[in-house]
Amino acid sequence: MKTEKLYEKDAYISLFEAKVLSCENAENGYKIVLDKTAFFPEGGGQPSDIGTLSESKVFDVQIENGEIYHYTQKPFSVGQTVCGAIDFERRYNFMQNHTAEHIVSGIVYKRFGFDNIGFHLNEKEVTFDFNGFFSAGQLDEIELEANRRVWQNLSVTSFYPTDEELKEIQYRSKDGIEGKIRLVKIEDTDICACCAPHVKTTGEIGIIKFLSTEKQHGGTRIFMKCGKFALSDYSNKSDDIKAICAALSAKEEGVREAVFSLNLRLEAEKSNIKALNSKLISYEIKLFDKSKQAVLYESTDIKDLQMLADGLHKTYGGVKTALAEREAGCAFVMCGGEEEIKSEFEKLKSVFTVKGGGRGEIRQGSIMADIEKIKEYFGV
Ligand SMILES: [Zn+2]
Repeated sequence: MKTEKLYEKDAYISLFEAKVLSCENAENGYKIVLDKTAFFPEGGGQPSDIGTLSESKVFDVQIENGEIYHYTQKPFSVGQTVCGAIDFERRYNFMQNHTAEHIVSGIVYKRFGFDNIGFHLNEKEVTFDFNGFFSAGQLDEIELEANRRVWQNLSVTSFYPTDEELKEIQYRSKDGIEGKIRLVKIEDTDICACCAPHVKTTGEIGIIKFLSTEKQHGGTRIFMKCGKFALSDYSNKSDDIKAICAALSAKEEGVREAVFSLNLRLEAEKSNIKALNSKLISYEIKLFDKSKQAVLYESTDIKDLQMLADGLHKTYGGVKTALAEREAGCAFVMCGGEEEIKSEFEKLKSVFTVKGGGRGEIRQGSIMADIEKIKEYFGV
C-alpha cells in the first residue's frame, strides 16, 4: 500500500495535508489515492469516513486491491497538495460505539466463551451477534460490568506485534483478517485484532446501553447505543414519555400504569361496542322491509355485514345482501341457499365489477361502481 494510515497512528486527526498519487474516473466521480490519509476506509463493521478533500466532497473511502481510494466529486492533479477534513463528529460517534463493542465482546468472551461473529455500526443502528444465548439477568450483568469499565477510564492502545510476540499473546480475532495483525488492547479487559480507530480511554464512551436483543442463527443479536447515540436515544425517549404523560395527564413515575389502565379501558369499551353492535344488528333484522332483498348498513367491519346478511337470510329466507358504502363503491355480504346464491352472484357480476367471492351459502367482497347505481340495483 502506498498510503500512510494517519488514522492508525492518531485516531483524533481530523485535518491533514497530503499529496495526490493518482486520480482515476469512477462511477459517480473520481477515485483518488493519497500519500497519507486520516480517512478510515470501510472495514471491521464500521462505515468509511466522509468529509472533504480541498473543495471536493469525499463520499466514500474503500480499500481495493490493497489501496485506499477516496471517492470524490471533483478530480485532482497528480502531485497536487490537498487539504483533507473528515466529518469528525460522525467518526467520534463511531469510535465511541466501536470501542464499546470491544469491551462488551471481551467481557462476554471471558465470562461465557462466546465469540462475536458479526458487528454492524452506522448512524441508525449498532448491532453485534454472539454465538450463544444469555438470560435477561446475564445481559443486565454484562451491561453493568461494561459500564464499570467505562467509569474506570481504562486506556485503549493499538500496536503491531512481531510474529514472535503474537505467538505469546492471547487475543480475540474476527474471520477474514488479512495482512499484518494490528491488536487493540483495552486495559484489563480485552485484546482484539482490529483495523478501526478507537477512543483513547474508555471514559470517552460515556455510557453503554443495550436496547434489545433478538435470537438468531443459533445465537444472540444485541442492539446497543453508546456515547452520543445513547444520549440522543435518551432524549428522544424522554420527549416521548413527556408527550405521553401530557396526553394521559399522568406523572412520569406513573406513566406505565396509566398506559396499562388506558389499555384495559379500551378493551372494555371494545366489548361494550361489540355488544351494542349485535343489538343494533338484531333490530335492523327485525325492522327489515320484507319486500326488499338488501339493506344498506353503516359499518367499516365486514363481520357486521356477515352477521346482518346471515340473520336476514335465516329470518326471511331467500338471498339477502348487506351493503356498506365505501370510498369506491360498496362492501357487500350476500347470504342464501347454495343454488339460489350462485345465480344471484353471477347476475351481480354481469352488471358490476365485483372483487371477491365465496362458496356455500355466502359471497362477499366489493362492488366497484357508483353508489347510486348499486342502490338502484338492490332497491335500497
Ligand atoms: Zn475495533
